Amino acid sequence: MPPISSYACNECDFELPSGWGGYTYAVDNSGQRVVCPHPGEFHTVYQVTGLNYTDAQNAGRVGFAQHCVCLDCLRQFDLDLERDAVLCLECSSRQVRSLRESVGQKCPRCKVGLIEEGSVIRWKLDPDWEQLPVPQVVDDLMKFVEHRRVPGSLERAAEVANSFGEGNFFVVALRLLRWWEGDYFSQDQEQKDSAEMQPQWTWCMALPDVLKSTPAIAELVVIRGGRCWFAESVSPEARRGIKNYLRKHRKHVVWS
Ligand SMILES: [Zn+2]
Ligand SMILES: [Zn+2]
Repeated sequence: MPPISSYACNECDFELPSGWGGYTYAVDNSGQRVVCPHPGEFHTVYQVTGLNYTDAQNAGRVGFAQHCVCLDCLRQFDLDLERDAVLCLECSSRQVRSLRESVGQKCPRCKVGLIEEGSVIRWKLDPDWEQLPVPQVVDDLMKFVEHRRVPGSLERAAEVANSFGEGNFFVVALRLLRWWEGDYFSQDQEQKDSAEMQPQWTWCMALPDVLKSTPAIAELVVIRGGRCWFAESVSPEARRGIKNYLRKHRKHVVWS
């Protein structure tokens, strides 16, 4: 399962399709290429060709098409670089580059920026995000989740949370960060006022003790009515600051 990436210019809004650069296809009885979605391409190959993957490959009925862009007219199309003539389908230019070859190269549109591979999660930040306040503990929690090394400021919290179960502090931190950041893949991406808690969830059992152990977290979070909420002292600017900071700096890997 490859991680899904986005491919875009770091200066202008030029983009190539997200994913991993292309797709497997099978050739049906009339010679048409049929996309075989990942995962499950073996199954689609069989459905389309009536052959197992190896036989279909030997019969030349499986291939890999790559996303390509014409550097002259910017038209995007898919080519099997092992089989197809490398020509633009629009203007017949030979200046065709695959997505994989494009990473790290100059953007064909603005010719200033570079094509970068990044997370598919591309939040739009508030214009004033750099001026907003962000509590240190937010950064500490984010770095802990990323590197799994507990910083001194969170040692007590980790000890308390992990006494409820191995790895439990990681879940506590992850749940808080997800709540504060908002869910990129949901309809409503806005940061919520509170997050769900369930008495049987281990991280929820530990949270009250975590708050008692670590004032920096308790300054941000209170538990009320079976949910956790932003503490009243957290200003709207701080809430936005936390959200924008996480949207800017959290690393996401989205797997297919
Ligand atoms: Zn072209
Ligand atoms: Zn560009």
